Amino acid sequence: MAEEKLLLERKHVAQMLSSEEVDKAFSYAMDYIDFLSRVKTERESVDYIKERAEAQGFREGDKDKGYFVYKSKFIALWKKGKRPISEGLRIIASHIDTPRLDLKLNPLFEDFDLAFLKTHYYGGIKKYHWVALPLALHGVVVKKDGTLVKVVIGEEDSDPLFTICDLLPHLARKKQEEKKLSEAILAENLNILVGGIPKKTEEEKKEEKEKVKKRVLELLFEKYGLTEEDFASAEVCAVPAGRARFIGLDRAFIGGYGQDDRICVYTSLTALLEVKEPEYTSLALFIDREEIGSEGNTSAKSRVFEKLVYDLIKMEGLPTDPVLFFEVMEKTKAISADVTAGIDPNYLEVHDKLNDARLGYGVVLTRYTGHGGKYMANEAHAEYVSYLRRIWDEEKVVYQVASMGKVDEGGGGTVAKYFAQYGMDIVDVGPPLLSMHSPFEVSHVLDLYMTYLAYKVFFSR
Ligand code: MN
Ligand code: MN
Repeated sequence: MAEEKLLLERKHVAQMLSSEEVDKAFSYAMDYIDFLSRVKTERESVDYIKERAEAQGFREGDKDKGYFVYKSKFIALWKKGKRPISEGLRIIASHIDTPRLDLKLNPLFEDFDLAFLKTHYYGGIKKYHWVALPLALHGVVVKKDGTLVKVVIGEEDSDPLFTICDLLPHLARKKQEEKKLSEAILAENLNILVGGIPKKTEEEKKEEKEKVKKRVLELLFEKYGLTEEDFASAEVCAVPAGRARFIGLDRAFIGGYGQDDRICVYTSLTALLEVKEPEYTSLALFIDREEIGSEGNTSAKSRVFEKLVYDLIKMEGLPTDPVLFFEVMEKTKAISADVTAGIDPNYLEVHDKLNDARLGYGVVLTRYTGHGGKYMANEAHAEYVSYLRRIWDEEKVVYQVASMGKVDEGGGGTVAKYFAQYGMDIVDVGPPLLSMHSPFEVSHVLDLYMTYLAYKVFFSR
């Protein structure tokens, strides 16, 4: 037997692609950068996905090319397959929520003529990442009469930005530098600077308090018609401001906020939009609340997913009966589309060089996530992994099989285990990132492209 057949050979995607294919990957990356620059919240993701789908003829609740939106934060898109739904579905599930700083319900205060918004972080952040950084505010406010006001401040060149100030090094020795990294910046100090010009008052009201805060409220009222009470029914968060960009002299990478998991959102969306006449009904799910453990009615644990499958069964004129539902689930093949950690040579001590993913080596199949002892995670069966290896090899998808980090070093979870409960085969598949969960995550252009191809092949077979 020739040596190359015996040994697992890892190849950089660049070694496997023609120059035309590399050009295609870069033009795909440019569109992705545009998406990443514009779409920074769940609701913005849902709006974007809906818009792209409608432009391609998808209609709400349509049997052949349809979509379903729940609470503006969960969207599903499907394309009817050649085979009946009773033979199972092909599902790719990604998540549209990202770590960020949510405004508290009563956020606005002033001190020393500086006005701030208090925050409560959402998802796994390193708090020191969020100070001394240009921030934008994104979200919605629903006023008492039900009117929904969209807020985006800090993305246009003419917009002001926001920031959380850090302590100067000159005075940080005891307060920060002698402390543990996790304790140096406190969550309660992640207050966003929003104003510094006091409201001008008449002589008799000279002693009036909170004049900067009042001026900020006046500005919010002028622009959005909002009062301080309206924060109670607001969903506004601070996210890193500005556009995603190519990184490196060779532009090998993409740097930007929210690539966990919007890189999988974009690749699975475009894969579904472009797949022609899939064999099985293909369903792309874009889900909320993954970063905080999939809790709530728009998350992967929400039974609204079951309702959706029943609706799809009903659309084919089949009985909406639990036995058929579980038969469909058992025959379903699924991908939990999520990112993993790429090896960072600066932190080799946490990586297993033999088993962790490498940037530029293609889309990653992660058989199990979880932490030491394989706790709290789904593990894909060997038969299912064999199936994916086969279809990707046949279609020249460059992939790597990897786990995340050394055993007992840490770990994480994805939505895979929640869908596995229904009996379907599911495995995690997505690109590797560097600086994951930071305000500026880094992906590789060629991994992005391979992720898109891997999802497209999955949907088409
Ligand atoms: Mn994720
Ligand atoms: Mn995450």
